[in-house]
Amino acid sequence: MKLEDLEIPLLQLKGIGPKLAEKLEKNHLRTVKDLLYFFPYRFEDLTKVTPIAQAKIGEPVLLIGKVSQLKVFRSPRKHYIITNGLVSDTTGSVRVMWFNQPYLISTLANEAEVALWGKLTKTKFRLHLSNPRFQLVKNETGFAPRILPIYSEVAGIATTAFEKILRKIFDQSDILTIKDPLPQSLIQKLALPALGQALTWMHQPQTLAQIQAARQRLSFEEIFYIQLKLLREKRVVASQKAPVINIDTVIIDDFLSNFDFRLTHDQKQVLAEILHDLAQPYPMNRLLQGEVGSGKTLVAEIAALLSLNSDYQVLLMAPTEILARQHFNRVLTDLAKFDFGLGLLVSQAGYFGQHGFKARKNPAEIFRLLTQKRVNFLIGTHALLELKNNSSQGLLLRNPDWRIGLVIIDEQHRFGVAQRQKLLGLSAQNYTPHLLSMTATPIPRTLALAFYGDLDLSMIKEKPLGRKRVETHLIKPTQRERVWVFAKKELVKGHQIFVICPRVEPTGAQTTEGRANWVLEIKAVKEEYEKIKMALPEFTVEIMHGKLKSAEKEQALQKLQEAQTQILVSSSVIEVGLDLPLATVIIIESAERFGLAQLHQLRGRVGRSIHQSYCFLIMEKYSALAYQRLKALVESDDALYLAEKDLQLRGAGEFLGERQSGLPDLAMEAIKDTNLVAQAKKLAEELLQTNPTLKDLPLLRQELDKRNYAII
Ligand code: ADP
Ligand code: MG
Repeated sequence: MKLEDLEIPLLQLKGIGPKLAEKLEKNHLRTVKDLLYFFPYRFEDLTKVTPIAQAKIGEPVLLIGKVSQLKVFRSPRKHYIITNGLVSDTTGSVRVMWFNQPYLISTLANEAEVALWGKLTKTKFRLHLSNPRFQLVKNETGFAPRILPIYSEVAGIATTAFEKILRKIFDQSDILTIKDPLPQSLIQKLALPALGQALTWMHQPQTLAQIQAARQRLSFEEIFYIQLKLLREKRVVASQKAPVINIDTVIIDDFLSNFDFRLTHDQKQVLAEILHDLAQPYPMNRLLQGEVGSGKTLVAEIAALLSLNSDYQVLLMAPTEILARQHFNRVLTDLAKFDFGLGLLVSQAGYFGQHGFKARKNPAEIFRLLTQKRVNFLIGTHALLELKNNSSQGLLLRNPDWRIGLVIIDEQHRFGVAQRQKLLGLSAQNYTPHLLSMTATPIPRTLALAFYGDLDLSMIKEKPLGRKRVETHLIKPTQRERVWVFAKKELVKGHQIFVICPRVEPTGAQTTEGRANWVLEIKAVKEEYEKIKMALPEFTVEIMHGKLKSAEKEQALQKLQEAQTQILVSSSVIEVGLDLPLATVIIIESAERFGLAQLHQLRGRVGRSIHQSYCFLIMEKYSALAYQRLKALVESDDALYLAEKDLQLRGAGEFLGERQSGLPDLAMEAIKDTNLVAQAKKLAEELLQTNPTLKDLPLLRQELDKRNYAII
């Protein structure tokens, strides 16, 4: 049987009605195959019976015994309905209790022999087995020792129901004979179970070792597919041509002579790597990682300058309008003395600047200016991807009149693969532009290996001299007043402060998150803005969040840069890139609601000059995990360390956020295993060496084509 044969709708399966099928479908479980890949999230070992005398508090146990003294009653104050009984075996007895399940009394009769599994707990009800699952022993479908798969509840469908549905699947189809897409030689070499075997063991294991082997096989498989996809993409890129950029050191020196500082050692290093790539006749694909303020943009400007000097046009895409504008203003100043046209394109508006001259244009005009080579360095948001001429035809790079030699993507993780590809374009030119991606959020080593195999990595570790470490404090809500006393002193010195809130709108009493919100105070930008304005009339307060109109954002940004604004109350939109030398304090409300990488980014908004700066993390809601995470931030300002810590503490799913789409949980877990990823990569390379087109492995090719990971 082929894997595709299992892509039949669940409705066709005997025993699944339209109602159930609909519920499953809503949760992306549409076909038999989907269900086979819906793995139990844990297993209960019901192969070993514990004699009651040996049962220990807090440990999961399986007891087999007789129940007696069954009765149902209401708890005195709490209004529970309690079903209570005594289980006894030859070694002893223990109380058993179920809450709010009065019907159990009719399922269980006194003197019935039952198998019960659960945890032994000790509460005010004394020592008892609490809410155990159970099965009668003497019964046709009765208890048999086994390993019980536990599925997560989806749309109210309990684990027992999943167990039943899967049993049907295994009864009705011969899963063991599924043809394996992985090459036989590989399976043998790694001593992995075949696909059908692994799927069977995952849902109906007989031993814990089988589960282990099945997991190994299934996680290896996903990682292996990812590696194959990456390597194939890399081969395609390597076969493309790119413009050779002339590395003119005179112009680099000329550019650097504008600044009163020297490049740091790391900047020199990464610049050398980039220049080496630009001089090659095939496309660069490099990710430049570096902390906020480490000087990435400066390096990118040099790469752009060299491309422009070689008569190639440059595109720079940034994830937000604020950032795009900031880059535009920066380039306008830094490259003022060089003779080329600079353009900015954000949403509906375009700007055209040259020699300090700025004129507003519409997007169609920017399009034309690009064609006429009057704009040669175009900066923008994803509006760049939509750039059209008047006849609304034609996508940016398809235009044969343009000569795009270098594409720079700032904060590349904010964009999807599709956007990256689109920007690089299927150009009418007979070459692919060089690609320089930048990120201030370093990717943990194992993730980089797993997903960015096609990128070359450059890293700036040190910060420019004179930068001081941002002093970071973890603050209880009750200490907020003291933070403000301190902040006021900074304001008096002429410094600026940021207040970051996790929400824009205040939450009412009723929200989808229900109870948590009326117990918890979650600060909202709009509310805090009003409050702070009232409380501190002697200072200028501004507001910033994603819902503002772009003109309002621009104005707010301008006022900040001109230091007219002293306090900015903002959502996390200011997270990336914003560069304000006078900002010395950032107060982050409900800090536990942000990821570590994001908090580190936010903290990077201050400490961007010689002034000592401070970050106050207000932990609104305590949890041990949140405390650990925030503590890491207090102790370290090493972005890579923090990213790796975040990966450990919250898992890859959290780390990759929405971009994880398409990646199964098992693979998410597996990518933490650097050895596994390295092994999969090596084997994928070996396979492509001997079999570049995978032509005698049609099943494998099919599986690869089906997988469209959003993150690669
Ligand atoms: P990033 O893009 O990594 O956030 P930028 O390139 O924007 O960093 O640099 C941040 C600030 O530091 C800018 O004002 C820039 O002019 C300055 N800068 C860059 N490189 C150096 C250096 N080697 N020494 C001192 N200041 C630098
Ligand atoms: Mg930057």
